[in-house]
Amino acid sequence: MVTRREAIAGLGASFGALGVLSMLPGAGAAQDPPYQLGEWTGDSFAPMHAIRDGLSRTPLPSPERRVEIAVIGGGLAGLAVAVMLQDRDLIVLERESEPGGVAKSKRWRNVDYALGSAYVVDIKEPFGEFYEKLGLTPRPVSAPVDRVLTGVEAEGDPRDGIWRSAYDDLKALLRRLGARPDFPKLPISEAPEPALALDRLSLLDFLRGEHIDAELFGLLDAYCLSAFGAPANEISAYAGVNFLSEINAPIYAFPGGNATIARAMAARISRDGEGRIVTGAAVYAIEPAEGGYARVGWFDALHPDAPRCLEARWVVVAAPYFFAGRILRGVDPAETAKMTSLRQGSYLVANCCFEGPPPELRYDSWALGAQNFSDVVDATAAPPAADRVTDHSVLTVYAPFRDPRAGRALLLGGDRAVLAAPIVDELRRFLPEAFAKSRLVEVRLTRWGHHHLIAAPGMVETMRALPKRSGNVLLAHSDGQGMPAVESAILEALSAAEIVRKG
Ligand SMILES: Cc1cc2nc3c(=O)[nH]c(=O)nc-3n(C[C@H](O)[C@H](O)[C@H](O)COP(=O)(O)OP(=O)(O)OC[C@H]3O[C@@H](n4cnc5c(N)ncnc54)[C@H](O)[C@@H]3O)c2cc1C
Repeated sequence: MVTRREAIAGLGASFGALGVLSMLPGAGAAQDPPYQLGEWTGDSFAPMHAIRDGLSRTPLPSPERRVEIAVIGGGLAGLAVAVMLQDRDLIVLERESEPGGVAKSKRWRNVDYALGSAYVVDIKEPFGEFYEKLGLTPRPVSAPVDRVLTGVEAEGDPRDGIWRSAYDDLKALLRRLGARPDFPKLPISEAPEPALALDRLSLLDFLRGEHIDAELFGLLDAYCLSAFGAPANEISAYAGVNFLSEINAPIYAFPGGNATIARAMAARISRDGEGRIVTGAAVYAIEPAEGGYARVGWFDALHPDAPRCLEARWVVVAAPYFFAGRILRGVDPAETAKMTSLRQGSYLVANCCFEGPPPELRYDSWALGAQNFSDVVDATAAPPAADRVTDHSVLTVYAPFRDPRAGRALLLGGDRAVLAAPIVDELRRFLPEAFAKSRLVEVRLTRWGHHHLIAAPGMVETMRALPKRSGNVLLAHSDGQGMPAVESAILEALSAAEIVRKG
């Protein structure tokens, strides 16, 4: 049995390098791992790098087509805009081979697992109504929803023992804040003034000021790295409190995660006309217009040497801000500089496929002190109990990089064996029950190079100050709310759709 002090000491030293140091090439990678390695999924870097390296300055050819609305990016935000305006003449241009952005899923045998975005928190209005219109009923993941892993054998969840009162204090604080009218809410356009004061503090400093036990800070770091791509001392207390309030409420997950929402939207959009979602279409330039037609330069991701162009009465840019800033032309350079200088996290997700009876796990398990991942979602725990498989399972391991730039270099290097090995080794130590009666047969890696806007202190004010419109070009990416969440994507879509409707 570890003492409280020993457990804490372990945490202090941990998460220092989350994935980077132990993943450097040659750092103990298995040359011939005892499991298969699936092909990469996630971001394809080539089209974005082609744009960065010169295409963004290429002149636009003559437009070959005119539409009323062109949506750039088919992630949750872009798809939501298109659903909200589905009675209009519109097209969605999506760089990747399928829509969904970070909300995609795959299947191993009959288990659907997420490649990124996994669960939703808020089903009140306007979100619940939106899901209902899509024919979706979010299902709460059964309680207890999560568990904290220490990596120490036979050690239970520290919140059941050594951290009970500290964790209860945190929950009580968040409950009190949640009941106040000045809770740091979404949309940020409605942020009450006292809540904006939170945005000037880091989450860590705020919780210290509220006398939350420092011994919980390792847990908060794991949570913040997973949810925001940076530890609690680098995250705005506005964003942190908003997200953390979920520990007092149920969370909702579809099998395969939030890809279910993306698929329902894509089906709805295509129902009113095939070809409205064009995949493999990378946009390299957007020229706004006042009152006329904006021009959109794009290329088939496989043929960057053959640029194409269309014009649209409205263009809705649902691509991440740091990238939108690079492709928007004729816009105040000071504004685009603010967008391109935003910090983005990088992320590796490892879906581990096991043969054998699934272990009895919570939906999400937080790994305290792990060097190579922050948490593990049991994909098998998302469907209702009666539909769960009994002889195989998939664990989705979230491995955000603490140093986003170093993480991107590793992802670009693309050595799957080197990247998978330390995650699997550590998973064995933190979740031995997953391996007790089952065999790991395959690891499937997903890379996200520039995902998770890092919600640094001041982010809410920065986003409130950035204009969302330039002529007939609107911005509608979840970045606009300063917090990476499904709810942010839907809110941004609602506001862009309203502007278009008002004309
Ligand atoms: C690993 C991970 C786990 C997460 N888990 C959760 C979770 O459990 N719950 C939650 O609420 N949130 C979660 N999030 C955050 C949340 O899912 C995202 O904030 C949200 O899905 C983002 O949607 P979006 O449409 O704004 O952006 P994105 O998903 O970034 O979509 C943008 C789209 O634009 C496309 N694109 C970009 N540039 C171009 C271009 N030049 N031309 C054409 N297309 C382009 C991209 O390919 C992409 O499809 C997670 C995020 C990550 C990375």
